[in-house]
Amino acid sequence: MKLPPRVINDTDPSALSIEEALLRIRDVLPRLQDAQEIDCLGALGRISAADIHSPMSVPPFRASAMDGYALRVADCHQALKLDGQSMAGHPGSDRLEPGSCQRITTGARVPDDADTVVQQENVEYNDGTVTIKIMPQMGLHVRNPGSDSKQGELLIDSGTRLGPSQLALLAAHGISSVQVYRKLVVALLSTGDELRKPGNRLEAGQIYDANRPLLQSMLQDHAIEVLDLGICKDSESALEQRLTAAQDADLVISSGGVSVGEADHVRHVLERHGQINFWKIAMKPGRPLTFGFSGPDQAYFGLPGNPVSAALTTLLFVQPAIRHMLGRTLALPPPLLLPLSDELRKNPGRVEYQRAIMQQDSQGNWQVGTTGLQDSHVLSSLHRANCLIELETGSTGAAVGETVKVYPFTNFAEPVL
Ligand code: AMP
Ligand code: MG
Repeated sequence: MKLPPRVINDTDPSALSIEEALLRIRDVLPRLQDAQEIDCLGALGRISAADIHSPMSVPPFRASAMDGYALRVADCHQALKLDGQSMAGHPGSDRLEPGSCQRITTGARVPDDADTVVQQENVEYNDGTVTIKIMPQMGLHVRNPGSDSKQGELLIDSGTRLGPSQLALLAAHGISSVQVYRKLVVALLSTGDELRKPGNRLEAGQIYDANRPLLQSMLQDHAIEVLDLGICKDSESALEQRLTAAQDADLVISSGGVSVGEADHVRHVLERHGQINFWKIAMKPGRPLTFGFSGPDQAYFGLPGNPVSAALTTLLFVQPAIRHMLGRTLALPPPLLLPLSDELRKNPGRVEYQRAIMQQDSQGNWQVGTTGLQDSHVLSSLHRANCLIELETGSTGAAVGETVKVYPFTNFAEPVL
């Protein structure tokens, strides 16, 4: 008997590459236009909808960077008479007699007549007299007005995600409210007659719905409002009903029902109410991914039903698409390059993502190995993984010690946006 070849070619000419699919998504998905003004206190994770210019220079005055003495550098060769003080929030006099200095604290205003601050560790104080032990350079420890930002300067671009640093920057400039895009409304549903919600008893042939918790968590974000549409039966009319309930959504995401089986009605419904852009990607897992529109202003992703495929297509397509809709970049985070600790096999013809774990060996060197069974229904090997290994389309596998591209989950676990 003749054995089948060990390497089977998986090429499918009707399947798009990941790059082509992302370009198509970028080309047809509209960006959110509606903006709203909100208080900065509630703006964490929202996306700025306008360029923000600095209303003032920061720091607003010449400020000391040290606790010490404000003085003229030209006077430093002599013992200086201590004359007054300038404390943070309590500025002293701007005048300084030649040969004198002023006690100053960090953040306090430097008197106009002083050009330098000497830190207190570098002076000797004795009965009202200050002697400089280490000669300072002119201007030392003086923060100039506008050294952080100048009035009128661009502070934050439109399309920036407002994280802790951005909110601190706005506050430092006295800005208390900000123009942001409204939240993106994303509706989720799981299709499948076999699906039950956890907490209920399974009848024969039923399984629990893992995809809604998966998607809800992967799309939890300050800039997104998730609309949970529950489990949907395998019929076109049931799906149409859900779409009616999802009328206000900018994006609908369903899982299941996208392969070419009998119960695969998602594509029929899209064809009737909107349009299909693509429905097959040359990747594993996750080949049957449908993307299109379910209405004039409503984008639609039909994810594969197997949970690992749903997770991967969400990472690679849905999250980037949402970033784009919110005015941000579609680009994925950069991969790491790590040596393999296991041999990997693969059929050529599509890009493959293997669930993997990166860890240090006994010498402290980082390496990456598979987490085991890679079938697309196996969530336990996703649970044990902390990264994905990417094997290119033409690859037939990789040997121990070979360097492979690795996408850590910590990158993906960043806010979606
Ligand atoms: P489908 O794409 O509908 O043909 O589903 C492919 C496989 O994924 C089938 O084994 C389904 O039972 C399974 N599946 C579909 N949806 C879910 C879900 N929400 N949770 C867990 N498994 C699912
Ligand atoms: Mg199904």
